[in-house]
Amino acid sequence: MGHKGNDILYKKDDVFTVKIEDIGNDGEGIGKIEGYTLFVKDAVIGDVVRCKIMKAKKNYAYAKLEEIVVPSEVRVEPLCRYHRRCGGCQIQAMDYRAQLDYKQRKVKNDLVRIGGFAEEFVEQVMEPIVGMESAYRYRNKAQFPIGTDKEGNLVAGFYAGRTHDIIANTDCALGAEENREILECILNHMRKYLIPAYDEKTGLGLVRHILIRKGFASGELMVCLVVNDRKGSGKKGREFFPFQGELLDRLSEIEGMTSMSVCINTDRTNVIMGEKVYTVWGEDKICDTIHRRNTEDFSLMDQGIVFHISPLSFYQVNPVQTEKLYSLALEYAGLTGKETVWDLYCGIGTISLFLAGKAGKVYGVEAVPQAVQDARENALYNRIENAEFFEGRAEEVLPEKYEKEGIRADVIVVDPPRKGCDRACLETMLKMQPERIVYVSCDPATLARDLRVLCDGGYELKRARAVDQFGGTVHIETIVALSRIK
Ligand code: SAH
Repeated sequence: MGHKGNDILYKKDDVFTVKIEDIGNDGEGIGKIEGYTLFVKDAVIGDVVRCKIMKAKKNYAYAKLEEIVVPSEVRVEPLCRYHRRCGGCQIQAMDYRAQLDYKQRKVKNDLVRIGGFAEEFVEQVMEPIVGMESAYRYRNKAQFPIGTDKEGNLVAGFYAGRTHDIIANTDCALGAEENREILECILNHMRKYLIPAYDEKTGLGLVRHILIRKGFASGELMVCLVVNDRKGSGKKGREFFPFQGELLDRLSEIEGMTSMSVCINTDRTNVIMGEKVYTVWGEDKICDTIHRRNTEDFSLMDQGIVFHISPLSFYQVNPVQTEKLYSLALEYAGLTGKETVWDLYCGIGTISLFLAGKAGKVYGVEAVPQAVQDARENALYNRIENAEFFEGRAEEVLPEKYEKEGIRADVIVVDPPRKGCDRACLETMLKMQPERIVYVSCDPATLARDLRVLCDGGYELKRARAVDQFGGTVHIETIVALSRIK
């Protein structure tokens, strides 16, 4: 229960009318009554809402949206009718321009509050956020869980926020148009031949997930059925039960279909993919190309790097915005052709290969062995000979290479996961004294924290820019350039 001014308590089921002033980290609306904070899911900044307290704490409460009394000027009708139940898009009900403004503001605030940079300085350094042309249909990958609804009907869709209940939806508004036809085909086939969906509670049943990927530049499609097959892991090709000829024939008629496979996952876990993949039709991999863009106006340049993507590979989910982000990385790196560049947390080497054409030598470091292997293959396919990849943790590989082998760097690029860079990694970077550091971040809070360390260690924040990769959601991608103070 929360305290009101004169020791009166806020409690469950209390109803308030409040104006939403801000957005929380999970996309919820934030309103205040006499300094007491209400988090209201599904309320948009600018709304005046009536809401009911569900859970009251000392200084704040979670409240349920009961009624929108006065809708916000930035409230829009979302394309997806499931957006409130599905956990995927938290801010789809906000006008896209307002989403971008929010993200720009959030980066700025984190740099000021967490990073300790002066507000006027941050305003000077920050460039305007790079938005998408459309905040829909931008994802090239989707993993749909398969299950049964309360009536026992076979469904494909998405988990309803934080639960494992499947919302039947074969047409996620962020995904490719083709997803729907592919899913309907598979569901119909399963219904016809009574092929059971996997049941998480019992561990029985067969089909767990359907992974669909599309190369946006190539038009190539990949379908992978993740199955719980305890006995038949040795079966291959057309014999495989859920992928009988009829289904393969039907799916292969879909324009762009390039690869169909089965992935075996018999573990009782939330991890979607298993380790073994068998191709049952077409190629093992699909191709896609990421182009370098001219960052002055983001018009396309003709050189592209080709990526070969298997069902288990990591690959950026929004290729159009990735091109813009990595083109900025290239610009921020300020290469002349001679530099030694380190690309830490390099994944499948997208940034490394992007930079290689303008660098003397690029070294990539990545913790996941499969990604390192993909990075090496991608270098080969693209005939890039000046990129080398090391497997291991950045905070271990970098100090080792620096202390034992005396390697150096003119430019260091980092693209860490949300938790940011390890302290040991930042400290080694500082010891190596590169001229420039380019930091690509998917969490402005850890970015701000790490920038403080780098700036206290002799670097200066030069440029910062958010590049929206995840329209409709609260996720924020930012790129920053730092340079060494001489
Ligand atoms: N730029 C990459 C994507 C980076 S995502 C690309 O385009 O492919 C972050 C990557 O960091 C992931 O591939 C993850 O496996 C890797 N990673 C996470 N922790 C790591 C660590 N401690 N050291 C090195 N790599 C790490």
